[in-house]
Amino acid sequence: MLIEVLLRILTMIEQIYWNPVLETLPREQIRKLQLKKFKNIFQWTYDHSKFHRRLYDDAGLKPEDIRSFEDVARVPTVEKSMMRAIQGKEPFPYGDALCVPLDEVTVFRQTSGTTGQPVYQPDTWQDWEWWMECWSYILWAQGYRPRDRVFIPFGYNIFVAFWAGHYAAEKIGCEVIPGGVLDTKARILKIQELKATAMMGTPTYILGMAQTARMKMDIDPSQLTINKITCAGECGASIPSTKKRLEDAWNAKVYDHAGATEIGAWSFECTAQSGGMHVNEALFLVEIEDIVTGEIIEEPGRRGKMIITALDRQAQPCVRFDSKDVIEWADEPCACGRTSRLIKGGVVGRADDITKVKGVLLAPSAIEEVVRSVDGLADEYEVIVDKVGDAESIQLKVEILEEAQDQCQLIESELSDQLRLKTNLRYDIEICGCETLPRYEVKARRFKDLRKKNQ
Ligand SMILES: [Zn+2]
Repeated sequence: MLIEVLLRILTMIEQIYWNPVLETLPREQIRKLQLKKFKNIFQWTYDHSKFHRRLYDDAGLKPEDIRSFEDVARVPTVEKSMMRAIQGKEPFPYGDALCVPLDEVTVFRQTSGTTGQPVYQPDTWQDWEWWMECWSYILWAQGYRPRDRVFIPFGYNIFVAFWAGHYAAEKIGCEVIPGGVLDTKARILKIQELKATAMMGTPTYILGMAQTARMKMDIDPSQLTINKITCAGECGASIPSTKKRLEDAWNAKVYDHAGATEIGAWSFECTAQSGGMHVNEALFLVEIEDIVTGEIIEEPGRRGKMIITALDRQAQPCVRFDSKDVIEWADEPCACGRTSRLIKGGVVGRADDITKVKGVLLAPSAIEEVVRSVDGLADEYEVIVDKVGDAESIQLKVEILEEAQDQCQLIESELSDQLRLKTNLRYDIEICGCETLPRYEVKARRFKDLRKKNQ
């Protein structure tokens, strides 16, 4: 009888969690596991990567020196520019951070190059299975089940993006439709024809799809059968007003996920939507570093940049990678029962993007939050920061919806008030006609800082 009850409880637990053991480990055991895995990956890179050995030798660190999290914090960080500097060299084209013979590499991907020359990323088949496993946690936590028919509107290419999401959806038993070379209209028709229930994409693209359906195809996307959407690639799905627009457009739950080519799929929002994203702490070690002092922040509510280690990735390891993502710990555990820590509000910005204008710190995501919360404005916007002489200015271009043209002045004044309230800055607002601003397929570049160019 007792066994039966236990089995029933276990079955229920298995329905909630992809990995019931790792996702509910008590905190102290998670930390123990992370430290053990960190020691292993440090030893692995020290033994197999000349790049890492040089870095650690220069810092006077040997594998036996890593005994605590304080020791972990002494391990030098790796920046994207360092990976760029070694690539193109032997073993070609990855350079000497490669920890396995070239023969074992089965996957080539590269970063999108948003911030410069792309970085190459090799993976072995074992690493690729690890990618799928990371994504299985994400999809299961967001309610994907074998009954789902998942549509992937992604141009399968050299970017890792939704490749691993595709394979993970298959792994957990979903039926997967690759929307590869289809254009946006054909993708929408396919979703309609096959009654797909879930899809993945960047917030920008998913919003753009809804607009195309409504304006060019006379299809109301909220009447289609999509009930959940996994967003990645940009912060949008964690920005409340953008999430609301996405959810209203598709009549679907929208979940955020953050990952990166050189890191892996490290975080996810779960169906409890407790206002943040889980860090998958069984597979990743996330540290938050104070941008000014370099101190590791343990307490909730203080923002810093993320230093991350992929604890199990082998071909080109990611050990204390300086991601430049700005995050903060949430103060409460999530209602879903997972014991992994939450980052509050997802990734709130990039350390590179947060900038001082007129002496005030400005995060571009704060502007997006305001623009998308104002009724009558379309989804697109553009921000241009400039400096003429000593005067700094922020120009904000927004698009007004056709049906709201007669309320132009009212909308402009609401936008201006909200921006002043939320960001403490004044903007030169330019109201443009619908569909006049640039559209983006992959990562949007809506924030332009011309001061850097002028220096
Ligand atoms: Zn949760």
